[in-house]
Amino acid sequence: MKVTRFAPSPSGRLHLGHAFSAVLGHAHARASQGKFLLRIEDLDPGRCRPEFVDGIFEDLQWLGLTVDGKPKVQSERTEIYQQALDRLKAAGLVYACFCTRAEIAQSLTAPHGDAGGAYPGTCRPLPDDPERRASTPHCWRLDAEQALAIAGLPHWMEEDGKRFESKRSDFGDAVLARKDAPSSYHLACVVDDADADVSLVVRGEDLRPSTPTQRLLQRLLALPQPTYLHHPLVTHDDGRRLAKRDLAPTLAAMRAEGVDGRLLAAQLLEGQLPLGFRLSQA
Ligand code: GLU
Repeated sequence: MKVTRFAPSPSGRLHLGHAFSAVLGHAHARASQGKFLLRIEDLDPGRCRPEFVDGIFEDLQWLGLTVDGKPKVQSERTEIYQQALDRLKAAGLVYACFCTRAEIAQSLTAPHGDAGGAYPGTCRPLPDDPERRASTPHCWRLDAEQALAIAGLPHWMEEDGKRFESKRSDFGDAVLARKDAPSSYHLACVVDDADADVSLVVRGEDLRPSTPTQRLLQRLLALPQPTYLHHPLVTHDDGRRLAKRDLAPTLAAMRAEGVDGRLLAAQLLEGQLPLGFRLSQA
């Protein structure tokens, strides 16, 4: 019995890529007499809007995908993420970071900077300063070095039986909470997957780079380890990613044009994409 989840962010209307992901997750759950859960990942107050949440329900219904249980809404669950963060704080595995985006970008473009885009670690050696924290915006970062020293390099299994090993360079000092968002995607994702007993995480290949950090957090918090299915992405025929600026058709627009959602879902499950689109490896 597989428990899967569809976890969109309501920062826009859903498009074909979301539909593909949802259809796969739903099919794995149904084929195993399992559960297909919905989680609204609305922790970014600047980007998420209530009308997009309504859109998610409409689109799933149109595709004929039924959700089990009450959908979880991340913005209503901040306390549970805070508890997880507190456990990591108590273990000395996180530190407050006061760097602005501009400062981080500047240090990364400096000649000695880390071209890989990882955080350069400026605030890592600072002693905890509650006064500064009380007066200055900051985020909380995972001390990856320390975390890996405790938990070791994690691995994970994909649904097709492939084992993925992580390597040191997969880990930066990931942000786990910000002043304006009480939990980062990584922390909320692992806490929620565990809380809902998700056993198979179905999501696009573009999120595979998130998996090492999420597996590390699972180990640190002693959470169960799901299997992963990172699926190919739906792109335009020429390989371009679907993005709002590309005028990728939303499911709402396809519905308005008279497309049959259930037929579309059945075709997506067979890997058949509408004209002009294809599946591409990330
Ligand atoms: N909220 C993420 C997105 O919309 C998905 C996260 C996940 O499936 O782990 O891309």
